Amino acid sequence: MFNQNQVFTARTAQIGGSISVARVLPNREKRMIGAWCFLDHAGPATFEAGKGMRVGPHPHIGLQTFTWMIAGEVLHRDSLGSEQIISPKQVNLMTAGYGISHTEECPPNETLLHAAQLWIALPFEHRNTPPAFDHYSSLPTWQQDQVTLTLLAGDYQQQSAPTKIFSPLIGMDLTAAAESEISLTLNSEFEHGFFVLEGAVAINGEVLQIDQLMYFPVGSDPVTLSLKQGTRVLWIGGKPFTKDVLIWWNYVGHSKEEIIAADNDWKNKTERFGSIANFDGSRLDSPPLPW
Ligand code: MN
Repeated sequence: MFNQNQVFTARTAQIGGSISVARVLPNREKRMIGAWCFLDHAGPATFEAGKGMRVGPHPHIGLQTFTWMIAGEVLHRDSLGSEQIISPKQVNLMTAGYGISHTEECPPNETLLHAAQLWIALPFEHRNTPPAFDHYSSLPTWQQDQVTLTLLAGDYQQQSAPTKIFSPLIGMDLTAAAESEISLTLNSEFEHGFFVLEGAVAINGEVLQIDQLMYFPVGSDPVTLSLKQGTRVLWIGGKPFTKDVLIWWNYVGHSKEEIIAADNDWKNKTERFGSIANFDGSRLDSPPLPW
């Protein structure tokens, strides 16, 4: 069949401190790509030491936060007691499940930040899974001509990423050291998105710039990417959810009631979200519920 693609351009949003991010998911027309329900591109940003991102304690439910580091380092802490620096070419995966809270900050001497931060919605049957934190310091990576492919999640050809996931999906980084062309087979049961993190790419001849995402529905044909030198593309895909999840503030839910209950627990400082040791700063308050 002929590929029916759509292009979405990220909008600007603010996160902790003065860091602005490009947010492409969710957007008005497309809430999710498979279980991927949130996609922020942070940076590339440079700043004075001590002036980087600093996101205070906040809760999550019903999702996994997924960080793919490109440049600089970020320190993660959470209510399970995890304390982990993430460096380039590494993934941090925090499974919120029933409830977790965490902080994210640039280390004191850091002056760079470039990362992709995504959320993966947990399917209904796994929404209350116990919270967990996993750090992946190395992922399957290989070369095809001048392109380096790094499998961030799921399977591709003979490769399998160790990343713990709860629904069928894929995440891949493609980086071109020199101008190159690559053809990719798209799992026909998945919907797919290609997002430009650096450089520029033509996908089946259509040019995509930084912070643009090209969407391909289930059943799409293989695609050919023509990457300019220095281009980095993030490929995400997954089996479509039968129903979009609800996203409000830092919560992903399958009903308003779930989100309201979680927010009450956060406001009331119940055990559900625990506390974070060694973070110097105040917790984030949720905005008023829309319901
Ligand atoms: Mn968070």
